[in-house]
Amino acid sequence: MIVYKFGGASVKDAVAFRNIFHILSLLQDQEKPVVVVSAMGKTTNALEHTFKLAHQGLSYSEPLLEIQQYHQSNVQNLFPSGNHPVYKALQEQFSSLENTLQQVRPQEDFDQQYDQVISVGELLSSVILHHFLSSQGYQNHWLDCREYVRTDATWREGRVDWERTENQISQHLPSILENSPVITQGFIGGTTDGSTTTLGREGSDFSAAIFAYCLQAASLTIWKDVPGLLNADPKLFKDTIRYEEIAYQEAIEMAYYGASVIHPKTVQPLAKRCIPLHVKSFLHPDKPGTVIWNCQHDRIAPSFILKQNQCLLSFHTKDFGFISEQHLSSIFQALSQHRLKINLMQNSAISFSTCVDADKTRVEAVRAQLADEFVILYNEPLHLFTIKNYDQPSLEKLTHGKEILLEQRSRQTYQFICRPTGDFPH
Ligand code: ASP
Ligand code: MG
Repeated sequence: MIVYKFGGASVKDAVAFRNIFHILSLLQDQEKPVVVVSAMGKTTNALEHTFKLAHQGLSYSEPLLEIQQYHQSNVQNLFPSGNHPVYKALQEQFSSLENTLQQVRPQEDFDQQYDQVISVGELLSSVILHHFLSSQGYQNHWLDCREYVRTDATWREGRVDWERTENQISQHLPSILENSPVITQGFIGGTTDGSTTTLGREGSDFSAAIFAYCLQAASLTIWKDVPGLLNADPKLFKDTIRYEEIAYQEAIEMAYYGASVIHPKTVQPLAKRCIPLHVKSFLHPDKPGTVIWNCQHDRIAPSFILKQNQCLLSFHTKDFGFISEQHLSSIFQALSQHRLKINLMQNSAISFSTCVDADKTRVEAVRAQLADEFVILYNEPLHLFTIKNYDQPSLEKLTHGKEILLEQRSRQTYQFICRPTGDFPH
């Protein structure tokens, strides 16, 4: 069994859908993949925008119409005959979305309502892909993954109930896959009482890894618009190189530091079951890409990772007392309670500094909670750079001309925080 994951760029328009059909046609007849798909193009962002308007009680009809038209026009291109069942399926998804939006209430839980709206992107794209592949003679089974990927009710970051999920998937999927490939959604899951959850932005890679893990798949392939796993994001850095193969641990660390090519939670389940992860270009399916697996290799070329929109928070004791474990405990408690992840931290005699994503609401909540105990300073928006497997030339090149606010290094990793310079690519 194999799992394929197609991200937003690989379903962004009709041409992209046709290309997926081409890639699937390259498989042998007996190879029936599970295909995990993201929302089309930038649909998730558009849904997020629409939801935020609805939550503020503002008019959202314009962005909603844009989302509808975007899907509609691509469907018209893929199904020119006009009376295909996909039209009805699409209409059902849209009227259910409109209903959900009408029920959005500002005074009710933002995160819970968010998930009910934002999850529609993957339902739409998977329905279209299912119908399109069938229309090309590629018979397949559309699966609502919310009945399989079980999570708790941590909205926007559902925690997977691995036991339930594995039971569901291993009980039902093999017999379906005997007869036909499965098309399903990335990014979304469901609670046992039938609510929809999401797994965190860019979470479709993780969904694919969940399916691969539960099916003990032979491999997972993530199809991307880059030729494989590169040592930096080519949109942000010049002269990137592709790794041919790298070990799971390297990939986990790169993802952790913010390499956006793979969602951070993706590699761990695969590593547990030694399932190789291929990262390949959907434009050049014949090219080797990168394989992440249980391999041994010498130190690899430095990789460069940038996390943008960061906030540096510094907590100073009010009485010039030393930072104690007690202080650290209340800081960590507040960060965890308001779900702010620590991207870097450092302490000195009387202060503790941490770099977190500049999420205004969450940062404000932490500041309010700790205002009595500490003098809190903060700086934003900042850039957090990481060089994994750094050497002197790479370090000098990247730090050149930047105002460094904080830096940290271990034997393999060098990180620093600076003000944005805007001179991309680096
Ligand atoms: N569509 C979701 C997002 O944009 C999930 C994904 O693409 O991985 O975050
Ligand atoms: Mg993605």
